[in-house]
This record gives sequence, C-alpha cells and structure tokens, in this order.
Amino acid sequence: MEELIKKVAEQIAAAKHIVALTGAGISVESGIPPFRGKGGLWEKFDPMEVAHINSFMSNPEKVWRLLISSMKDLLVSAKPNAAHIGLARLEELGLLKTVITQNIDGLHQMAGSRDVVEFHGSFAWLRCLDCGNRVKTVDIELSQMPPRCECGGIYRPECVFFGESIPMQDLDRSQVAASTCDLMLVVGTSAVVQPAAFMPVIARQSGATIIEINPEPTPLTGTTSTLLVQGKAGKVMRKIIAEVERILADKRQ
Ligand code: NAD
Repeated sequence: MEELIKKVAEQIAAAKHIVALTGAGISVESGIPPFRGKGGLWEKFDPMEVAHINSFMSNPEKVWRLLISSMKDLLVSAKPNAAHIGLARLEELGLLKTVITQNIDGLHQMAGSRDVVEFHGSFAWLRCLDCGNRVKTVDIELSQMPPRCECGGIYRPECVFFGESIPMQDLDRSQVAASTCDLMLVVGTSAVVQPAAFMPVIARQSGATIIEINPEPTPLTGTTSTLLVQGKAGKVMRKIIAEVERILADKRQ
C-alpha cells in the first residue's frame, strides 16, 4: 500500500493538469451515505426509483419524505473530510484544475475548491415548480410535505434527478476538462451512472492516466483506470497529499 501511495503521489506531483471526478463515496467519511455499496441508501430503498423525476412528479411527498428531507438534515451538519480538503489543496498547489462532482452536498466548495462542476446539480437551493421562485434549502420549513412556495407551487431541489438531462453547460465543461487533463483522479464513485461515468473514458482516450480511490473495484478498474488505491477516500488522500507535499518540498531544495 505504501509503495502504491508513493507511486500515485509521484504521478500527481509530475502532472500538469489534474481533473477529479468524485461521487457519493468521497462524502461517506463526512457522514453522508452513498447510494450503492455497504451502508448505502440502496439497502433501504431503490434510489433509481425514488430519485427518478417520474417518481418526484407523480408523488413529490414520498420523494421529499424518503430522500430529500433526510439528505437536508445530513447536509446541515456535514463537514468536508480529508479527501475534499486534499483536492482543494491540489488546486491551491496549481496541480488540479477542476473537480467534476456527482454530489449535491456542496462539500467541495466548503473545503475550498474553486473550480467545481456540479454535474448533478445541488441541494443547496430549491425552486418552485410553478413560479420558479428560489429559496435556500436550509431556510425551508418542513412542517408541510412537500414544502410549498407562497404561490402554492411545490418546491424541488436544484439537482438532476435520474431521468433528467445534465445541463448543457455542465456537460460541456466536464467534457472539455476530461479531454484536456493529463491525470484524472476518480474518487468514491461506483462509475455506473451515465454520462458521468463516461468522463474517465474520455480522459483515457485523450491520453490521461486514470487513478481510482475506492474501497471496491468498479467497472473502470483494470479497463479504463491504470491504478486503484483501495481504501477510504479521506484516509488514502491524507497519505497521498503528505507524500505530494514531501516530493514538492524536495524539488524546491
Ligand atoms: P454510488 O452511491 O453509486 O457509489 C458509491 C461509491 O463509493 C461505491 O463505489 C463505493 O465503493 C464507494 N465508497 C464507499 N465508501 C467510500 C469511502 N469512504 N471512500 C471512497 N469511496 C467509497 O455513488 P455515485 O457513483 O456518486 O452515484 C450515485 C448518485 O447518487 C450520484 O449521482 C450522486 O449525485 C448521488 N448521491 C450523492 C450523494 C452526496 O451528494 N453526498 C450521496 C448519495 C448519492
């Protein structure tokens, strides 16, 4: 493991343009459960069904109760962990240019990352389905489900539900980032949700090295990705960043 961490750190320190693709797994150590994998929401219900736009439109109360309200409670208290902080540090060092995240939790920005593409939108804001009025999720009262705007319309989070398209500007920015990086870090994603999972494929086809950090192998492992560092994102990233800092300090001497 230590040898692998050193190898990854050397590749990161030598890279000119790193892009990260992150998924729910990066926020597990911040207390937010993923969809798939151990302890995932999947064990309670099928997120593909509950987090589908058709489910929301046909029964918004059910989706608010099962998914959105519990996520809202978690987001109020969640703090970035060493993995979010590590990626922000790589940006500060000028090595990492963009984080493409599938997460809706805002933890990358809270950790200090500046160039973040929220590929699946965000839970930070809600929008009225009728009049388009926007409110901050933390400011909304959940005594009535689903919460409603003054106009009577139902609020929805500004996320991309399954069955909805990725906003064109986010898809464009991500494709450009993926095709111009020389190294992509793929952290905490099961790499099964498209088109997000295609970004590492674009990067690889454009000549980038792909490194995964995940306790489990994914469909990318051994095909698209060159290396898998098997472990928890925060724990692994803390070691990688310490090693990158050491390599850069040696170079400066
Ligand atoms: P996923 O739930 O499908 O997969 C989670 C992945 O994280 C798995 O591969 C698992 O092995 C890995 N993992 C678990 N613990 C980890 C840890 N400590 N460190 C590193 N990796 C760990 O997640 P996905 O690929 O992002 O796709 C699911 C969709 O669900 C995404 O669209 C995302 O928007 C949404 N989602 C977001 C959040 C969030 O914002 N935090 C939480 C749940 C789901």
